[in-house]
Amino acid sequence: MKPTIALVGRANVGKSTLFNRLTRSRDAIVADMPGLTRDRHYGHGKMGHKGFLAIDTGGFEPKSREGITQEMARQTVQAIHEADRIIFVVDGREGITPLDKDIAQLLRRIDRPVLVAVNKVEGMDRGVVSAEFHELGLGEPHAISAAHGEGVRSLIDEALAAFPEDPEDDENAERIPRVAIAGRPNVGKSTLINALLGEERVIAFDQPGTTRDAIEIEFERGDKKYQLIDTAGVRRKGRVFEAIEKFSVIKTLQAIEAANVVILVLDAQQDVADQDAHLAGFIKESGRALVVAINKWDGMDAYDREQCKIAIERRFKFLDFASFHYISAKEGKGLDAVMRSVDRAYAAAMAKLPTPQLTRVLIDAVERQTPPRHGIFRPKPRYAHQGGMNPPLIVIHGNALNHIPDSYKRFLEHCFRDHFNLQGTPLRVQFNVSH
Ligand code: GDP
Ligand code: GDP
Repeated sequence: MKPTIALVGRANVGKSTLFNRLTRSRDAIVADMPGLTRDRHYGHGKMGHKGFLAIDTGGFEPKSREGITQEMARQTVQAIHEADRIIFVVDGREGITPLDKDIAQLLRRIDRPVLVAVNKVEGMDRGVVSAEFHELGLGEPHAISAAHGEGVRSLIDEALAAFPEDPEDDENAERIPRVAIAGRPNVGKSTLINALLGEERVIAFDQPGTTRDAIEIEFERGDKKYQLIDTAGVRRKGRVFEAIEKFSVIKTLQAIEAANVVILVLDAQQDVADQDAHLAGFIKESGRALVVAINKWDGMDAYDREQCKIAIERRFKFLDFASFHYISAKEGKGLDAVMRSVDRAYAAAMAKLPTPQLTRVLIDAVERQTPPRHGIFRPKPRYAHQGGMNPPLIVIHGNALNHIPDSYKRFLEHCFRDHFNLQGTPLRVQFNVSH
């Protein structure tokens, strides 16, 4: 599973600036999603050949006792205990504050590696600045400027030093779809898992994961095998699976990363929450195939069902590649349809797209609609090849392709998706602009 880096520190030291820089490469994708750009606290980062998850913990007030700040503090503490690495951000211009000392004291007591990032030091003497923050007792401070990108690379390189590079796709590996069931607390994930596994044969469960405590459950349904990746502490307890741990954002994100297909569970009897939308955005951003299951469809009248459908359609328009199912995990209704969509989404995510066919579709598309001219430039796509799977990546070669507008890119995506029947998976089209 991908390593997780949590950014902690008091307000205004530059955590979200650093977060945005670390996750920026994907921001263009996120920006396309209505209702998702604000208030995003976790995202994908990549440094060299290492992918990681970044968590911005927001403000940090270890001594607050009440209400929202207390809830934030609780989540921050949870993130600190679950993350693989912690970056403690401090403000090099202000110097050490009493709150920094409180946070440092807390961080010294935990068993995770902590890196101190002294931010806002552009134009300052790094040696002098770093020396001051030695006093925090958390090792050699890293002088950085999140706003200007200085020192960030070496900070992250050190944070990730102990982690291996991302593995290459193994073409010959045995293909069992890896499925994660994600959703906020109480939407019915454990109920769904039990319904899926209930009468089916559980081949193995509670296998401790490689390095961390990832749990995978292999099961058969019909004549197909699946590997279920636990998201948030769903464990075998007696005869059934139960959520025995607190909901964990980090475990959820890691499970999504490790899956081929994610079943996002929503609660039809509750309003769509920001957390639902954030999770959905994260799944899309991660490129995983997706099936949306709107649960608790039992016990709702026609009017409420209609309202629910309207709200879901409006809020999740950006998931137009996914199929949506209205189910009842409790009554076991709709599960076969969900699993058929899982199969379909998996097949689409792993599809092999031969170059001649891709190029054929491309040429047909260009004949139907030529890319618009851009000043003196006349973009001319010439051929396409597949650059990756899960999600399928289609790389297009030709001339002046960097002048192709996003709307045309979406048109091409649409043509490829239609032709290859890629329902259920995000699809990425990339222009090769080197000549
Ligand atoms: P957060 O509350 O810790 O998330 O802090 P923000 O990322 O919102 O940053 C707080 C303020 O510090 C903003 O006005 C940023 O523009 C500024 N800031 C962040 N990073 C830098 C930096 O590297 N140099 C300077 N000079 N200002 C920065
Ligand atoms: P989790 O936290 O996402 O794992 O959610 P649980 O599976 O523990 O379910 C939370 C609550 O929702 C429990 O009280 C379940 O009985 C209830 N629940 C789950 N699925 C359904 C359903 O399909 N219909 C109804 N009405 N309730 C459900």
